[in-house]
Amino acid sequence: MSEGQVRPGSTIGLLGGGQLGRMMALAGANLGYRFVTLDPTPDSPCGQVAQQIVAGYGDKEAARELAHRADVITYEFENVDSEVAALLEELSSVPQGSKLLHTTQHRLREKRAVEAAGVKVAPYAEITGEEQLREAVSRLGIPSVLKAATGGYDGKGQWVIRSEDEIAEAYQTLSSSGAELVLEQFITFDKELSVIAARSPGGEIKTFPAAENIHYGNILHASIVPARVSGEVQQEAERLAARIAESLEAVGLLAVEMFLTKDGELFVNELAPRPHNSGHYTMEACTTSQFEQHVRAVCNLPLGQAKLLSPVVMVNVLGEHLEPVVQRMTSGKWLEQPSAETADVVPKVHLYGKSEPAPKRKMGHINLLCRDVQDGLNWIKQTNIWRNQQG
Ligand code: AMP
Repeated sequence: MSEGQVRPGSTIGLLGGGQLGRMMALAGANLGYRFVTLDPTPDSPCGQVAQQIVAGYGDKEAARELAHRADVITYEFENVDSEVAALLEELSSVPQGSKLLHTTQHRLREKRAVEAAGVKVAPYAEITGEEQLREAVSRLGIPSVLKAATGGYDGKGQWVIRSEDEIAEAYQTLSSSGAELVLEQFITFDKELSVIAARSPGGEIKTFPAAENIHYGNILHASIVPARVSGEVQQEAERLAARIAESLEAVGLLAVEMFLTKDGELFVNELAPRPHNSGHYTMEACTTSQFEQHVRAVCNLPLGQAKLLSPVVMVNVLGEHLEPVVQRMTSGKWLEQPSAETADVVPKVHLYGKSEPAPKRKMGHINLLCRDVQDGLNWIKQTNIWRNQQG
């Protein structure tokens, strides 16, 4: 056994019990690991397939209990309370450490870390007051994007400033939460791409093929792999993600979201030190899934091959899509009139076990294995389930 390995049969403690934790536990169970999750919602998606401690994320007693029950600890979201992170590091083994969390919890720190890795981000300015925002807008241009440096997700905590008249309101709205602010130049992108990199404690790095991501209302709708970009861009995107993972000495997964411009330039938008929605396609379409890879990395096992086995389109199932998806899944009849192409599409459904299918809530996803990604996209259109989201 290699030094410092966490062997099958051990228990992995997981901060957060959502769908990412659930899929990590399912993948880890295949390798013989047990899981205990800490999450405030009883019967959480992960709690349905693992042991669960029901308590708030900031509850120190519960964190102690988690450390006591687990041989190694990981997390499924980046907004881990810093005191809890420090406590867990003291009491247990947290191979990811807390440094990467600290970096990725704050957009300014994150941007500086990406730049330090020699990778480009959109030009930006730290915003400390309304007058200074005015000055920064005139420098970075209109439109530009004002973002809260902490706590935002799925486009929340952001304001696209499209005219000087909006500056005061944008500033007041976003600064009211007390968060620090950052202004970014608006990048007119051709495509949004993401790459999931994995790094082991010993420094081995593997990257998954780049995904082309389609968002609607700031929520991921679909990931297309291979991304419909040149082979050079695909390789460059993987190379940049690997470089960032190496520079940050990440352990486990690091998801890197990027903008690709018409001129072929790549700008990093955001990092996430965890499994990522845009990596769900790996579950059936790659030789190793992102979830297995993460478990391998935090347990210090050799990383798996991250090769693509089939073209794939991943489509998210939000609350408003759940009922028609379940109805068609249970009847087995997805398409009224499949064409030669769409008849060959193989839908692999993943539902997260959430009981409240609120609109926009992520309830599951479907990986569409296909001969060509266009067939998968046609399949989505032909089901009519996502009819409000066809671009
Ligand atoms: P974020 O929360 O940073 O991932 O941003 C959510 C979405 O807003 C992104 O997926 C982009 O579609 C858009 N967006 C964010 N920042 C920029 C930017 N600087 N330029 C253009 N679009 C952006």
